[in-house]
Amino acid sequence: MAQQSEHKWGMVIDLDKCIGCQACVIACQAENNVPLNTEEIFNQKRAIEWIRVERYWEGEFPNVKARFLPVLCQHCENAPCEPVCPVYATYHNQEGLNVQVYNRCVGTRYCQNNCPYHVRFFNYWTPQWPESLRNQLNPDVTVRSRGIMEKCTFCIQRIRRTTRNAKREGRKLEDGLLQPACAQACPTSTLTFGDLNDPDSKVSQLAKNSRNYKLLEKLGTDPNVIYLKKVDPKAAEELHA
Ligand code: SF4
Repeated sequence: MAQQSEHKWGMVIDLDKCIGCQACVIACQAENNVPLNTEEIFNQKRAIEWIRVERYWEGEFPNVKARFLPVLCQHCENAPCEPVCPVYATYHNQEGLNVQVYNRCVGTRYCQNNCPYHVRFFNYWTPQWPESLRNQLNPDVTVRSRGIMEKCTFCIQRIRRTTRNAKREGRKLEDGLLQPACAQACPTSTLTFGDLNDPDSKVSQLAKNSRNYKLLEKLGTDPNVIYLKKVDPKAAEELHA
């Protein structure tokens, strides 16, 4: 595990707020030059989405409710993807991020096979955009070519730019100023991003909520993404009865 630095980036996802609109998915796609997925690519199970919104049904007809679970790279402290990479293309940095170095990746896909969250994606094709969309590509983010593994970076380009500007201007990084595209686009503030090393940050406060849990916690991966359980009105009623 890498030595910790001033910041430890993390995210809290409040499942009670998610309405499954997928604005986060589109924002991530636009910000990070994620390849466009055609129906054919989906059918081949080779679609690339750095964040996906899983949908579950609860109850029996006609009292069925949809539940949503946004899943992205969990930026695990004990990431199973890291030790299996033969060329150190994926490693843990000092700010709690699981980093992917594209120009080191040789495409063995060991990391993808070892990730229990299925959040790593392999470029089976060189990505193509229609001419009308070429100008929408983000110049701050590289376009990954065929044979490269990719995944969520918590919009590292935004982290670098915002921290660099704050340092240059000699000011402290204000909590909430720095947001990945998904968190910025979410209309219900389901996703809260921030510094887990700052005890006063919103993300640190939310992480202490009694509804907190981590995905597949028993595996011991120790993710930096923390989920808050959906409030179950029935269970709450019973508790207060
Ligand atoms: S944008 Fe927010 S509310 Fe919509 S699916 Fe994503 S996390 Fe859920």
